[in-house]
Amino acid sequence: MAYYAGVDIGGTKIAIGIGTESGEILGEGRLMTADFKDGGKGLDAIAGEIEKLCHQVGISMESLSRIGVGSPGPLDGGKLLKTANLPTWEGVDLSTGLKVRTGRMTAVENDATAAAIGEWLFGAGKGLKHFVYVTVSTGVGSGIVVNGSRYAGVQGNAGEIGHLVMKPDGRLCRCGRRGCLETLVSGTAIQRTAVEQAEASPYLKTLAAIEAQDVFAGALNGDGTCRAIMQDAAQYLGLGLSYLVNLFNPQAIILGGGVIVNQPEWLDMIIPFVADYSMTDLYHPVHITLAQLGQDSGLQGALATAISSQVLPTTQAVAADDA
Ligand SMILES: [Zn+2]
Repeated sequence: MAYYAGVDIGGTKIAIGIGTESGEILGEGRLMTADFKDGGKGLDAIAGEIEKLCHQVGISMESLSRIGVGSPGPLDGGKLLKTANLPTWEGVDLSTGLKVRTGRMTAVENDATAAAIGEWLFGAGKGLKHFVYVTVSTGVGSGIVVNGSRYAGVQGNAGEIGHLVMKPDGRLCRCGRRGCLETLVSGTAIQRTAVEQAEASPYLKTLAAIEAQDVFAGALNGDGTCRAIMQDAAQYLGLGLSYLVNLFNPQAIILGGGVIVNQPEWLDMIIPFVADYSMTDLYHPVHITLAQLGQDSGLQGALATAISSQVLPTTQAVAADDA
């Protein structure tokens, strides 16, 4: 049997798992990102945790076929560029750094691409050759599979749908531009709009603190303001997804991330906009569906990154070979 390690690096925590080709996680550990002053210390701890988990599940580190990493972007191959989530990790080469510490080949993908590969191998994308995975949570991102291969672009950053400018005079985005899709449809954006409009809503103005899910709850209970906020966000998300339909002519768009997965009713509001804004013939074959991997999607994606990189060598894995 082949064994793989997956490492899902986040701004808050790092999830690490040892798994098999079928995606079964045999052992899992967690580190807190804030415990490491810099990326080098972080990599030391990740390598140590992989070794510990190998021991726990009764295999040697040498028997790991490969390590896969899902990381916040932007990346330059296996290296982290300046990222808001991991400011002290700038310039750290995750691919070479982990390979040196573990002796195992390490493939790195940005987290949305890794999640797309996870859905491809183990979830709603199984058997598909052309699809885009879009995550809607505190931020918005996507991962692309075309012609039966993941598409990550020259540096590994393809799929930044969240920073497509949809409204040039809109709200300031964390990327420095205005009116990005993320500022219109993310959980953070919905929450912010709700706070701005709370006075007009009989439901929202009774709440001490407003979260995105309160807006969904209000909309389902007939609150007009909440319904309008959800409808506006659905329109912009539908518009963004229509660009994917026209650009990629995909078989499916798979929607994941906490904001949408927990609110399937919102999907019913979004789909008519995708249909309206897409070219009709291209919209026809698209199956718009929810992601199947839940809470573990980050770790499953990292594991899938390790597995798929053997079949389809990535530029990052090649770079690690040369190191
Ligand atoms: Zn942006």
